[in-house]
This record gives sequence, C-alpha cells and structure tokens, in this order.
Amino acid sequence: MQLLLQFRTRRMQLLLILKQMLASCTGGAGMSFWQKTKKTLRSFMKGRYGSDSLNRTLIWIGFLFYLPGMLLSLNALLLPGLAAYCLCIYRMLSRSHTKRDAENRKYLAWINHRSKHWNQAKARFCNRKVFTYFRCPGCRAWLKLPRGTGVVTVTCGRCQNSFTQKG
Ligand SMILES: [Zn+2]
Repeated sequence: MQLLLQFRTRRMQLLLILKQMLASCTGGAGMSFWQKTKKTLRSFMKGRYGSDSLNRTLIWIGFLFYLPGMLLSLNALLLPGLAAYCLCIYRMLSRSHTKRDAENRKYLAWINHRSKHWNQAKARFCNRKVFTYFRCPGCRAWLKLPRGTGVVTVTCGRCQNSFTQKG
C-alpha cells in the first residue's frame, strides 16, 4: 500500500514538472511560445545586417548545389552549397553594415551589367535579318548597318575610329 502511494506521489511530481516545463515554453506571463521566440530573435538580430539581394541569391545558389549534392552524395556539389550558406549566414549576422552594403551594391552593378549584355545579345539575334552587326576594331563596341547597304566607311560613335565595312 505504501509503495503504491509512493508511486502515485512520484507520478504527481513528474506531472507537475512537465506542467511547469510546458508553462515555461509557452511563456507563462501571457506571452505565447511564438511571441517569445520572435522577441528573442528580434533582440538577437538587433544591429545585425539581415537580408539583401546578394543573400537571397546565395540562398538559391546554396539550394541549387546542396540538393543535387545530397541526392547524389557528391562532395563536389555539397561543399560549394555549404560555403554559400555559411557566407549567407555570416553576412546576415554581420554588424558591419557599410561593408555588406558595398558588397551588395557591387553585386547589383554586376547583375545590371550582365543583364544589359544579355538584352543586347538578344536584340542582335532578333534583328539579325535586318541589320549586320559588327565590332569596332578600335574599342570593341557593337555597331550595326542595315543589310544590303554595301561597302561603306563607318565612323565609330564611341572612339571616332573610321573603317570600311560591308553592310
Ligand atoms: Zn570604337
């Protein structure tokens, strides 16, 4: 009988501890678990850089490398994926805003440059039947002449170099 009573009190104690643990998880003082997590996260992220375009791209790069790397168990893909994630986390938690801003600006400038080149190449391909495209021998700028113009002297608008070209 005494043993049974002891067992019951033990069980009650355990339940009480569990209840207390749950209460501490859910905040106790009117704050839900998610509210508490949010508050903790916000105070942790205070003064840190956070996310930007470069970080979002890094997340995508990490995902594109890591997922096939995991599926094929290839270290050659896993490592660059992990490196991209590590770099992303480092940038997010960094307190040096000016440095991270400069990196992001550089990245955006590079993207703009690439997209400009890509759009120009697309336009050259679409208009290839209307214009003859060629590069200036002096500055490598792209120039165009209407097709069927014949041999003409062309002056480059960028470097003023004159040369003959068949249109
Ligand atoms: Zn030129």
